[in-house]
Amino acid sequence: MVLIIGGGIAGAAAALALGKAAIDATIYEAHPLNSHDRGAFLTLASNGMHALRQLDADAVISAVSAPLGTMRVCNGEGHEIATVPLGDTDDPAIGYRYLTRADLCSALQREAKSRGIRIERGKRLIEVTCHRGRVTAVFSDGSRASGDVLIGADGLNSVVRTIIDPTASAPRYAGQRIFYGYSTDTGVYSAPDHFQVIRGSAAFGYIVTGQNDTWWFCRVNDAELGRDEITSGTTARWKAALIARLRDDQTPAAGIVGAAHRIMVTNAYDLPDVIRWHRDHMIIIGDAAHAASPATGQGASMALEDAVVLANSLRDAPHPASAFIRYEQLRRDRVQANITASARMSSPVDRS
Ligand SMILES: Cc1cc2nc3c(=O)[nH]c(=O)nc-3n(C[C@H](O)[C@H](O)[C@H](O)COP(=O)(O)OP(=O)(O)OC[C@H]3O[C@@H](n4cnc5c(N)ncnc54)[C@H](O)[C@@H]3O)c2cc1C
Repeated sequence: MVLIIGGGIAGAAAALALGKAAIDATIYEAHPLNSHDRGAFLTLASNGMHALRQLDADAVISAVSAPLGTMRVCNGEGHEIATVPLGDTDDPAIGYRYLTRADLCSALQREAKSRGIRIERGKRLIEVTCHRGRVTAVFSDGSRASGDVLIGADGLNSVVRTIIDPTASAPRYAGQRIFYGYSTDTGVYSAPDHFQVIRGSAAFGYIVTGQNDTWWFCRVNDAELGRDEITSGTTARWKAALIARLRDDQTPAAGIVGAAHRIMVTNAYDLPDVIRWHRDHMIIIGDAAHAASPATGQGASMALEDAVVLANSLRDAPHPASAFIRYEQLRRDRVQANITASARMSSPVDRS
């Protein structure tokens, strides 16, 4: 039995992957409810869709997402720099897609449940003990669960990471504030499978969805926002700040922001140097192990790949310790390259 801590993208995908490898798993998720807040949107790249296909879950995710075929990049004067096809053009079934993070998590969790995998909600991990090859998770409600392996898929501020290594570094501010918004009736038209990127006064990207909605993000190099600033910030406040920054560009960005009915903001963080991914019968995957700032748009796809590789390693190795070594050999360089590329794209001199 495998205990999976966290029912986000990495955790839900790990459960599906273990199921395919005929290994029993239960997900323990801190949040008591399935959130109805759609939150920010994200893009899934071809490698993420390929991982989903290996989980037989590409169709369920395609059903709650939309395809992206082309990326057009222009500068702050509105001049085109490049137009490029996105993803694996030989196999459109694993092309890029976009959807909200909430829809991705819900669809993966629904799929896990339909395959008989248990998801226990309201289970916030606070402690782990290991004894004679068994691992026991202790939750904040006083309950416990025991298994052979514990997978920490508990995100950027992972508790499992600090249990594996109490000296593990904390997330690093990557130098950008990331704004996400939803706008309606912007007067800007574009095919719904076009991802438009503007390298102007900030890195701005938008997709005009089929429902006359525009989904957009804006990455702004600035000081880290305090927790109070984030929680007290309103759509009106962020709108005014972004329009002031974008209004001199000769692009649709300021107008799209002006038509927003919802704007969210978060700081970008990464984890460039988590040295220990595993100890005893515990391992971390996804953002818990290797969060990258969002610039490359690869975090979710990397988490999906992790799930496939870890489940296959556990299936094929004689012992969890050798599975963990194999997993790290297969994953370390790839995720590190993504962290480095994303950090470079988030630096003030490169807003690609
Ligand atoms: C603004 C922004 C934009 C992004 N855009 C993209 C994009 O376009 N494309 C892309 O691929 N990636 C993107 N990413 C990255 C992507 O969202 C993450 O890489 C991905 O969500 C990581 O999945 P995860 O399951 O590892 O962690 P999470 O999604 O954070 O899930 C962790 C889960 O663990 C639970 N949990 C936490 N602590 C505990 C505990 N103690 N006990 C039990 N459960 C716990 C949480 O409630 C959560 O459900 C973006 C990230 C940000 C911040």
